[in-house]
Amino acid sequence: MKGIVQGVGFRPFIYQLADKFKLKGTVLNNSSGVVIRVTGLRATLDSFCKDISSNHPELSIITDISVTTIELEHFSEFSIVQSEKEESTNALISPDVSVCKDCLSELFDKADRRYHYPFLNCTNCGPRYTIIDDIPYDRPKTSMKHFKMCDECQKEYDDPKNRRFHAQPNACSVCGPKVSLWNNNNEIIDVKDPVEETINLLKKGYIIAIKGLGGFHLACDALNDKAVKTLRQRKLREEKPFALMAFDSEKVESFAHLNTDEKKLLESNKRPIVLLKKREGNKISEDVSPRNRYFGTMLPYTPLHYLILNEIEALVMTSGNRSDEPISISNDDAFDSISDIADYFLIHDRDIYLRSDDSIVKKTKNATSFIRRSRGYVPIPVFLKDNIPSVLAVGGGLKNTICVTKEDRAFLSQHIGDLENYESLEFLQLTVSHMKRILDVEPEIVACDLHPDYMSTMYAKELDTKIIEVQHHHAHIASCMAENKIDEPVIGLAFDGTGLGSDGNIWGGEVLISDFKGFERAAHLSYAPMPGSGFAIKEPYRMGLSYLFSTFGSDYKNLDIPFIKSSEQKSFDFLTAMIKKKLNCPLTSSLGRLFDGIASITGVRNKVFFEGQAGIELEMIAKEGVTESYNYSYKKTNLYEISHKEIIESVVKDLLEKTDVSVISSKFHNTIINLFTEICCEIRSDTKLNSVALSGGVFQNSILLEGFLSKLDENGFKVYCQNIVPANDGGLSLGQAMIAAASI
Ligand code: ZN
Ligand code: ZN
Ligand code: FE
Repeated sequence: MKGIVQGVGFRPFIYQLADKFKLKGTVLNNSSGVVIRVTGLRATLDSFCKDISSNHPELSIITDISVTTIELEHFSEFSIVQSEKEESTNALISPDVSVCKDCLSELFDKADRRYHYPFLNCTNCGPRYTIIDDIPYDRPKTSMKHFKMCDECQKEYDDPKNRRFHAQPNACSVCGPKVSLWNNNNEIIDVKDPVEETINLLKKGYIIAIKGLGGFHLACDALNDKAVKTLRQRKLREEKPFALMAFDSEKVESFAHLNTDEKKLLESNKRPIVLLKKREGNKISEDVSPRNRYFGTMLPYTPLHYLILNEIEALVMTSGNRSDEPISISNDDAFDSISDIADYFLIHDRDIYLRSDDSIVKKTKNATSFIRRSRGYVPIPVFLKDNIPSVLAVGGGLKNTICVTKEDRAFLSQHIGDLENYESLEFLQLTVSHMKRILDVEPEIVACDLHPDYMSTMYAKELDTKIIEVQHHHAHIASCMAENKIDEPVIGLAFDGTGLGSDGNIWGGEVLISDFKGFERAAHLSYAPMPGSGFAIKEPYRMGLSYLFSTFGSDYKNLDIPFIKSSEQKSFDFLTAMIKKKLNCPLTSSLGRLFDGIASITGVRNKVFFEGQAGIELEMIAKEGVTESYNYSYKKTNLYEISHKEIIESVVKDLLEKTDVSVISSKFHNTIINLFTEICCEIRSDTKLNSVALSGGVFQNSILLEGFLSKLDENGFKVYCQNIVPANDGGLSLGQAMIAAASI
């Protein structure tokens, strides 16, 4: 059996099945998966095989079963034998999964020997990827190797009828990991029950660093304004939303709306953070997710979380790091880096080998959009259409992930984050070597972004291997094609904030005719200067001014709209001088920047605290049910160049007529959808291509994503979007890998 068949209760399942059919033989884990040798009557063996396919454990994924007749061996019984290590390592490792129902009832059962034990688990649940150092998956290869099982645990581990038979992280309060509570001076707090004391401290408004599954969280009472504000100040995180955790769906429904699909996702054993519409009049502090219609919410996924949330309405659970640094995983590291943020530390002595942040998902009508794909999903591979050569792709600059391919599988790493400091680069290197080790591959080709200044590109260039540089937006489209198993050319809509184009300008409003072998730029938004380059991303008013200036010339000054009188106007003359002299004004065709520009012209936001904030807020205020849109124009040379001038003129006209910003936002969204659908129709008549692939960070915008899905469908296109990996730069490495592999 190949697939995810190790560490998920597969051998005990086989043992019990063999017992049921009275079959003799052996089962063992090797580096390819699970091998079963079994003797019996043909008919019985057939039923045995059928049962494996239909009843295998919940966490297992079988990708391949091969059956052969072997020479007769005489077995006296059916037994589980020692793992063997083979040449090729093809076994898939399970992701970390949330505590199962059986374990949960033991956790709250006073009569159970594991009552309130924060690390209980069984073969159906618990930590996996984050505690594994090498394969095959056995206790000595995990961070549980430091804990010797007590007699009772060992008995369970050895008993094929037990739920904990060969459960590698099996533990109890006698023999397993323990929690302890510390203050931020690195002094232990001497209490009988550290968890109970943690709950008291949280209720009093303290900020606690809690060691979890894939790293530390910073937690505080989500209903306590003062605590949430303090956490924001100390973490230097001005406005980016915090994630919430509550005991169960019922509790979540007291502050957020939950439909059937969202509930299923929230309760799945992958336990992602799900973006849920806020409920009116909820009691959660305003500071948790300011100016946003959503709460990022998750349910507890470790027993420790359950113990705490059982006593508290809702917690803020944000990643335990300083802004921009990777999340802390070791106790020492946490004390070093976040002791000025946390008042107390609830830690434990089970090591986390590999950091894994919480995954973030948003469910829309027709799509499941990953904002971040990490804990719970990694290392489940993306299954490809065909076998491809083994390559390593190192991703982009922000929201980085890496990708390693092997045969017909692409393994995307957990979220590595923004590569802006040495710590995150170290994390990238660690992840590359870990992935290569557990997959047992040594890729001969490395793919990176075309941008020479990304740390990932520099890292790739230092490796002693052949490098393939991949254009950013081509990689986005290839990522969408890969997960949808398409290899024919498509019309790709690649919409994002930034990516270096092949002409040296900054792209991001692109229509590319692509396959894995190459691409042709078929259409793009017209270029606009970005006065101050990177500053124009952090300060959207610079883009607002740039679009106004290119549309109205110096007359923009006479426009009677609030933006012209905003506090930023002092710098307008300076910025227009920069534009005229082409000083530090790179050109961009980015749709993300157009969103920024419109957001600032309409008074939504002039400065941002996190990537994409202005665009997100423009989406959040859009009024439902508005069907009008603005005029647009484009001209065709060797490609379609779409002017932004009509759109800017119309927005200004609406502002002068005092049209509500919520209506302007909707009309702008509708315009983008109509305009690019028309462009797709034009390209279809030029090329006869009928498939459209959507990718790039802008597709996190649900209005655009859903709008394009239905409008393109109405126009007879086959439309593909990303449901397995993020459409943002978190999915970039997959596309890079596909393109590099195709070049071999
Ligand atoms: Zn369990
Ligand atoms: Zn024990
Ligand atoms: Fe991008």
